[in-house]
Amino acid sequence: MTTVAAYAAPAANAPLARTTVERRPVGEHDVLIDIAFVGICHSDIHQVHDGWGGAVFPMVPGHEITGVVAQVGGGVTKFAVGDRVGVGCMVDSCRTCDNCRAGLEQYCDDGPVWTYNALDRQGRPTYGGYAETIVVDQDFVLRFPDALPMDAGAPLLCAGITTYSPLRHWGAGPGKRVAVVGFGGIGHVAVKIAHALGAEVTVLSQSLRKRDDGLRLGADRYYATSDPATFDALARRFDLILNTVSAPLDFPALFDLLRRDGTMVNLGLPEKELPVDLRTLGGNRRSMSSSSIGGIAETQEMLDFCARHGVAAEIETIRADQVNEAYKRVQAGDVRYRFVIDAATV
Ligand SMILES: [Zn+2]
Ligand SMILES: [Zn+2]
Repeated sequence: MTTVAAYAAPAANAPLARTTVERRPVGEHDVLIDIAFVGICHSDIHQVHDGWGGAVFPMVPGHEITGVVAQVGGGVTKFAVGDRVGVGCMVDSCRTCDNCRAGLEQYCDDGPVWTYNALDRQGRPTYGGYAETIVVDQDFVLRFPDALPMDAGAPLLCAGITTYSPLRHWGAGPGKRVAVVGFGGIGHVAVKIAHALGAEVTVLSQSLRKRDDGLRLGADRYYATSDPATFDALARRFDLILNTVSAPLDFPALFDLLRRDGTMVNLGLPEKELPVDLRTLGGNRRSMSSSSIGGIAETQEMLDFCARHGVAAEIETIRADQVNEAYKRVQAGDVRYRFVIDAATV
């Protein structure tokens, strides 16, 4: 075991504080990564607050990790010391179920091993990227392209794949009209990727406050959902709606913006049950679906795509000791658009 510095929440709702955690020894197929940057995802805050229940404390959040390989186990073939790498939301899975064999480890029948707030397959707690280093099996480590910045590229490991996977699955591209509901950490990356894929992109945000940013980052149109005229102007317009908002929304009004066979995909994971009247899907063979990150191969494809198209997040870099203040600002919607911790300050 190696003792490393980290920022952890000692209990639900407690502020994060500097502490140490144990990393496992570097095994045969493991890669030891010196962490460079780690993004603050909204789900880090949900989990520190135990918003989904069953949280494990102390908790070291962080699943948007970039860094450099510092050591490899004897059986590691994919990486060498000095390589730029990334780690996203999961660090292992059963590898034998139908979903794992299809490259969809995020839907592993046994449940993937999440990067933090989980137990690994030996029953040890996993600790995330708000730390100096992390040890990860090579099969769950991504090659981080030279063309991507380590800081602004870090959020792609969650926000990027969370949006790229459904955009690809539902065929976003030239001739397709995509709406993105919510223009925050996930939403702004969705806009950039959907635009790079060649789709027509519309942002549906509560207000027009961030409209200039939306248009600059690739949206063709930007509408306020607080304005009832929006729903008349955009009726039956979209092939795909990506909903990045976890709060209750007017689902019937949004369903009416879908064309025949259109799909609304929910990416947020609400803390409370949301009642939905399925009659409001209407008679247009519309679908309501969900999507959770993406498999390891698709995450690599996404990183390579973003490198080719110059896509990364808009970030504000902070020191590790600013993390509690950053959490408050994320909850207040006061960040454009993702905080990234400089891991050298942990
Ligand atoms: Zn995340
Ligand atoms: Zn599996």
